[in-house]
Amino acid sequence: MHIHSIINGQSVMGQASSFSVINPADESIIAEVSAASAAQVDEAVHAASAAFKNWKNVSDDTVKQIFAKIAADIRAEKNSIAQLITQEQGKTLGMAQFEVEAGASWIEYLSSLEIPIETLQEPNGKIIKVYNRPLGVVASVTPWNWPFMIAVWHIFPALKTKNCVVNKPSEYTPLSTIKLAEIINRHIPAGVCSLVLGKGDVGQALTEHPEVAKVTFTGSTRTGQSILGHSVSSLKSVVLELGGNDAGIVLEDANLDTAAEGIFASAFLNAGQTCAALKRLYVHESIYDALTEKLLRIAEAQIVGNGADAAVTFGPVQNKMQYDKVKALIADAVAQGGKILTASKAIPEKGYFIAPTLIADVAEGIALVDDEQFGPVLPIVKFSAIDEVLERTNNTQFGLGGSVWSTDLEQAQQIAAQMEAGTVWINSHSDLSPAAPFGGWKLSGLGYSFGLDGLLLFTHKQAVHITGS
Ligand code: NDP
Repeated sequence: MHIHSIINGQSVMGQASSFSVINPADESIIAEVSAASAAQVDEAVHAASAAFKNWKNVSDDTVKQIFAKIAADIRAEKNSIAQLITQEQGKTLGMAQFEVEAGASWIEYLSSLEIPIETLQEPNGKIIKVYNRPLGVVASVTPWNWPFMIAVWHIFPALKTKNCVVNKPSEYTPLSTIKLAEIINRHIPAGVCSLVLGKGDVGQALTEHPEVAKVTFTGSTRTGQSILGHSVSSLKSVVLELGGNDAGIVLEDANLDTAAEGIFASAFLNAGQTCAALKRLYVHESIYDALTEKLLRIAEAQIVGNGADAAVTFGPVQNKMQYDKVKALIADAVAQGGKILTASKAIPEKGYFIAPTLIADVAEGIALVDDEQFGPVLPIVKFSAIDEVLERTNNTQFGLGGSVWSTDLEQAQQIAAQMEAGTVWINSHSDLSPAAPFGGWKLSGLGYSFGLDGLLLFTHKQAVHITGS
């Protein structure tokens, strides 16, 4: 299968070099991609600028009707989209179906939001109306962990606020995003939403383009910093959702059965490849052995294999680079005294498989605890006092999320207030809401996504001062 960019409503063969898309479960080639050239990126941005002249004036009702048609088409094609996600990303088919369904629901939620117009009255009788106007062309660059969902998170707030958008999916996982762009283009004018295929250089050409008014990016801190640096000359608005190293703190009084289920579900969500997954587990010393035992039982019940197989509960790591990185972190942790709790499992010979791995007897000072692993391995660290654990968990450059596990909800909320992170969960982790702002502190991000706060970052304010004649 040869796959194409979608520029100005047309499926277009890329004019730059080719590369392959690999199924991480068996390392087979599932698609060939010809990357878009710099001229084609330019064309997509020009088409978006041209389409913006009309799209910015489209009525709210028209946008709602379009979103309803797109959500209905996504649901109608849910199974085939989910199969693409499993093939390119590796997650189980059930998880891929969840990703598609959640995408459709997210679009419906966004559709229900009203973009506010504020009216101010001055003492002298003058009225000031404050509008949230569209920005123009939005560049979106999306990663390989939740390719369909994150494309929805980028593209639909842009369209809702009447911007035009050009997306570049990850080179590893373009297939489900192409399907999404095809569905969108059935219902919107040409040029409003384009998609350019390619590697980092295409992302760079797109995000640096002088006609782009805003960049929305999800991926590594390093790439996010580079995008922000290049935004200066044209003063682009930039929203960055970057990496995290979320700590979960389990207090003495936690319900260990439900905590073990919730912690495992978050830490190993999508084989641990989720920005807001629980990545460092801090457990009070009095319950350390009991909780690790429960986690171990859940880990050992997983069936690791090709996510397309209905019996499988745990898929591969998405790409070789990430597989090698996670393997190296595990080896380093063991070399520094960490103890692997999980028994080695039979895993398929081909494919980027790593069974869910729990590592005990580790602490800060080793890479597995200090850095983001972004894969199926969880370090379990002991603590004895709350003040001490807060200091240890906050002592990081990341600030995406964190969680507290306790039956004392008052105390848990007091601890949440001390955590240096944009999202704190109590007795859960990773569950996101389209209604709540989501954004990282420190090196985990810039700006917000989701909720009205996130939506309005796709607009700029215009104050209209009205004085009677
Ligand atoms: P990157 O940040 O390199 O890639 C994310 C996206 O940015 C991809 O579409 C990539 O294209 C694109 N890109 C790469 N370079 C540039 C550039 N200079 N300008 C614009 N776009 C660019 O992440 P990696 O895939 O390298 O993953 C590495 C690490 O990033 C992981 O270990 C994890 O820590 C973190 N990560 C975080 C995610 C999150 O959800 N917050 C998601 C994925 C990764 P291409 O893939 O084609 O190179």
